[in-house]
Amino acid sequence: MAKLSYERPVIQKLNTGSMNKFGTRTEYAPVSHIEGVAVKEIIAEYGSPVFVISEPQIRKNYQNAVRAFKTRYPKVQFAWSYKTNYLNAVCKVFHQEGAWAEVVSIFEYKKALGNGVPGNKIIFNGPDKSEEDLTIAIENKSLIHIDHFDELYMLIEVVQKLKQKASVAIRVNMDTGVYPMWDRFGFNYENGQAWNAINKIMSHPELELNGLHCHIGTYMLTASAYATAAWKLCDLAVNVKAKWNKPIQYLDLGGGFASANTLKGSYLQGPDIIPSMEDYAEAISSTILNFGFKQNELPTLFLETGRALIDDAGYLLGSVIATKRLSDGRRATIMDFGVNLLFTAFWYNHKISPAQEFSHHTEDMVVYGPLCMNIDCIRESVNLPLLSKGDQVVVHKVGAYNMTQWMQFIQMRPNVVMIDGQNKVHLIRHKESLDTMLQYEHLPQHLEKFEL
Ligand SMILES: *Cc1c(COP(=O)(O)O)cnc(C)c1O
Repeated sequence: MAKLSYERPVIQKLNTGSMNKFGTRTEYAPVSHIEGVAVKEIIAEYGSPVFVISEPQIRKNYQNAVRAFKTRYPKVQFAWSYKTNYLNAVCKVFHQEGAWAEVVSIFEYKKALGNGVPGNKIIFNGPDKSEEDLTIAIENKSLIHIDHFDELYMLIEVVQKLKQKASVAIRVNMDTGVYPMWDRFGFNYENGQAWNAINKIMSHPELELNGLHCHIGTYMLTASAYATAAWKLCDLAVNVKAKWNKPIQYLDLGGGFASANTLKGSYLQGPDIIPSMEDYAEAISSTILNFGFKQNELPTLFLETGRALIDDAGYLLGSVIATKRLSDGRRATIMDFGVNLLFTAFWYNHKISPAQEFSHHTEDMVVYGPLCMNIDCIRESVNLPLLSKGDQVVVHKVGAYNMTQWMQFIQMRPNVVMIDGQNKVHLIRHKESLDTMLQYEHLPQHLEKFEL
């Protein structure tokens, strides 16, 4: 019989303050399989840590979102927000489902073109577009969403030089009753800046004002903020029609719908408080439908929702490196993944499940990553069974922003796999190695030799 492991007992003050109203044991159950594939097998084949993406879950999320909007509004087009997750395999699933591309840099723009998205189905957002970027976008007939006056003036110069028309929209920021207000992107509605930008655009026949855009924030917990945003865009559109007799072709309400993650400091769990896709769809579509557009001038509704479509399709699998007691008696569990891979751990309390059966004894613990850096904390306090070195865990709802904001800091980025509808596992991004890093470095000759 194997020797049982001994752990030195500690006396600890019980802290009831960290419970929510459902008690402390609501967080976990063992998760041994993802889309029918054993966690153990995935780790054995692709290493630990490893990101896993469920293709069927992406498709399901997308189809649900489209259904929620299309049953309420006749003309709807989604565009996949590249920065949320721009792994090509992920983007292609969205494009196969019918999503256009929404990009915020020329790097993302070229990725979308490379994925086969036609230029006129790429929405080019963001504050940083150079003259060269704008030229490429105009030549590909993309939808250019202007962020600030400097971009507008540069764009006017570019279209005059090229003698080509550009399809443009302006990004509008506004007070939707949610604070802090996102006013650093686009032109402000309340102070007349947006109307001013529209007048400048309309005075240049080379610029075709086809749309109005907003992206009011992210992880928005009230659907009514979107009703306010839609109302303000409709108001601008109706004024454009009144002054120039030009119907606006589309209103782009951006993204920002909440995913089912739980924000740090939230008393209730994310899934219990976030609005449903139907709530967002209802707020937006009824505002536009009730506004008074003529039936044949009803604008197309564009949506660029990111995190709500991908977060729950992504998992991070990892293993316990060690456990220890902190000086105050608290238990600490050290994982082989940290904030280098889980950027979103800075604002979400990600759910962590053991990947194997566990004892009934649980304890509040800190979950750390492997970085030699104090900020590397995945969960400050979570009630979990006592995990031991080598045990495996599943971190949930990590599909958004982690595979784009991950850092190459101390550790390399791991493999990313996708499980398809037939439970087949595909490698979609190879893990990095020392060679990956060295290929970008150059050593001046005089530094080659040394003696110690
Ligand atoms: C980031 C971004 C999105 C997607 O935001 P989510 O919060 O992930 O839905 C959409 N539009 C623009 C302009 C963005 O910058």
